[in-house]
Amino acid sequence: MKKLIYTLLFVLISVAANGQAKYVFYFIGDGMGVNQVNGTEMYQAERQNGRIGVEPLLFTQFPVATMATTFSATNSVTDSAAAGTALATGKKTYNSAISVGEDKNPIETVAEKAKKAGKKVGVTTSVSVDHATPAAFYAHQADRNMNYEIAIDLTKANFDFYAGGGFLKPDKTHDRKDAPNIFPIFEEAGYTVARGYNDYKAKSKDAGKMILIQEEGKDPSCLPYAIDRKSDDLTLAQITESAIDFLTKGKNKGFFLMVEGGKIDWACHANDAATVFNEVKDMDDAIKVAYEFYKKHPKETLIVVTADHETGGIVLGTGRYELNLKALQYQKHSADGLSKQISELRKSKGNKVTWEDMKEFLGNEMGFWKQFPISWEQEKKLRDEFEQSFVRNKVVFAESMYSKSEPMAARAKEVMDQISMVGWVSGGHSAGYVPVFAIGAGSQLFGEKIDNTEIPKRIAKAAGYK
Ligand SMILES: [Zn+2]
Repeated sequence: MKKLIYTLLFVLISVAANGQAKYVFYFIGDGMGVNQVNGTEMYQAERQNGRIGVEPLLFTQFPVATMATTFSATNSVTDSAAAGTALATGKKTYNSAISVGEDKNPIETVAEKAKKAGKKVGVTTSVSVDHATPAAFYAHQADRNMNYEIAIDLTKANFDFYAGGGFLKPDKTHDRKDAPNIFPIFEEAGYTVARGYNDYKAKSKDAGKMILIQEEGKDPSCLPYAIDRKSDDLTLAQITESAIDFLTKGKNKGFFLMVEGGKIDWACHANDAATVFNEVKDMDDAIKVAYEFYKKHPKETLIVVTADHETGGIVLGTGRYELNLKALQYQKHSADGLSKQISELRKSKGNKVTWEDMKEFLGNEMGFWKQFPISWEQEKKLRDEFEQSFVRNKVVFAESMYSKSEPMAARAKEVMDQISMVGWVSGGHSAGYVPVFAIGAGSQLFGEKIDNTEIPKRIAKAAGYK
């Protein structure tokens, strides 16, 4: 009891000493369970130093670390909408709800509370702006698939900065009727739309409110995976940098900024380990941008990093008490990227790809044979698929939640899993604990194991939102 009182006292004193969180960063790694994080760190240790152990990410070194439960009101295993709602509002709801309760009534979000408290507010992601996780912070809709209605809600929330890949249904409502395009509606509501990082820099000075998305012609559903990135692609770190720049310009009363690493989940749905670890690292790079800001305002800044749920049931180790994660470094693209290249190979060879061509290709793209040997069984698996989809031309695309891939790419990924000794339970979500890390003003409020609904409540407390 005495210990508890001292602990509470310590917490109170430190909160008082640190003051309120004028600046709040809320990072959400979609699908980022504890093994996604630990796996990234063990991969880094093997890859960079050839050793067993962890090469820590920045955010895992934050002084406060705990874990959270994620179940929704209706399902033991949550989806991103119900989890996003819990993380945004502090209330549990049914799967697929966007910040409405089981009665379908709207629930106020921590971002809306921040806005009411006079803060600038930003909601950003590496997937589309109208996707479940970001939507849960600014929209209130009965179903996550109502992307048009969600996008329109962005003007109602009237936040200062939104960013992501783009918008999924700019001119179609949920029941597929033609609807007025959202972009003129955004402009009417006072938003400047910037397409790409350079366009943001050109337009930000004169913009009152900003929506930053990718250049025209790029896939609006998401930013490319970090592992597939080209030099002119918009990145989550650039989005974070732009958000800080925008939210602190003019009269600076503080801000609330949510940043989602949305494609950790997608890569986990596809059971694509190399891509997952690169995505976690990529979110860490965005967190570095926030951390640089924190270092300038340590007493007034809170950074919280967590996840909405685990995806894929990834396990590190498949029975042999060892790992070989360093093999993943030779995978040059995501399974999606690999699939595209296989389709291109097919085209370039006029559908006459030989086994030697395929071996050369997989050696370059996955490291098979060239960087490390593969077993007879593994070679047979690839060879059988080659016979099936190239010699007999029977191509059955392997489908996961967010992608469709050439069966050869799917088999190559399975062989890579065997070699690296990473296992997966499914292509869906799981109910495992997710990690919570925090640093800065009010971070002491995140002490013990909590439910995900506690996180926005404690952020609001740390920041003094009513
Ligand atoms: Zn998911």
